[in-house]
Amino acid sequence: MLPQLTKLKGIALNLLFPQWCVGCGKEGDFICSACRRSLPRLMPPLCPRCGRPQSSGILCPGCVGWQTEIEGIRSPFRFDGVMRQAIYQLKYRNLRALAVPLAQLLQDYLTTSHVPGDALVPVPLHQKRLRQRGYNQSRLLAQELGKLINLPVVDDCLIRRRHAPPQARTSTVDERRSNVADAFTCRDHRLRDKQVLLVDDVSTSGATLDACATALKAAGASSVWGLVLAREI
Ligand SMILES: [Zn+2]
Ligand SMILES: [Zn+2]
Repeated sequence: MLPQLTKLKGIALNLLFPQWCVGCGKEGDFICSACRRSLPRLMPPLCPRCGRPQSSGILCPGCVGWQTEIEGIRSPFRFDGVMRQAIYQLKYRNLRALAVPLAQLLQDYLTTSHVPGDALVPVPLHQKRLRQRGYNQSRLLAQELGKLINLPVVDDCLIRRRHAPPQARTSTVDERRSNVADAFTCRDHRLRDKQVLLVDDVSTSGATLDACATALKAAGASSVWGLVLAREI
């Protein structure tokens, strides 16, 4: 579309559906420029595997001895402040249009941080959860990101076959890992020899992403990286 038309369409949409900043309530954008600047960015050095800040830039204590299928997890932000509010609105308040500016933030991140991938795969929800919520926020993010960086989105290959109980905040890392182990499987071998970039909104222990990576590699994926908007630290 011509840039002028895109702009006009934006103005028309704004008149129909005025937008308010999820951080401060100012009218105009879903995330205003001031709130955008205050987003809790994760800065290097990072643990090369889980992507959490790690002063030395070597494997963090939590990753030493963790045999993973996932190559690594990268995230632009901590799950905090305006980012936490934005993800809450996207996930539980049906504010699906937020997937657009959030995917733009992922795109910005990828211009300075290389994460390998030739196909995007959103972390799937179980059918039951999908019916309750009506949409999968990770799928929305992957679709918007795919348009921006021109990568295909494969969202019907990896499936969640078990409806894992919500992860209690108090559960240990080992409990989280055994909770999601075997929860995912691939329907077919479409992702064989592909470098998969898994997309999710939030990662806590990384156990879900690693369980997805296990299923994707069993179906022949050559590498699996995780790209999440925000990390719980
Ligand atoms: Zn704001
Ligand atoms: Zn680590």
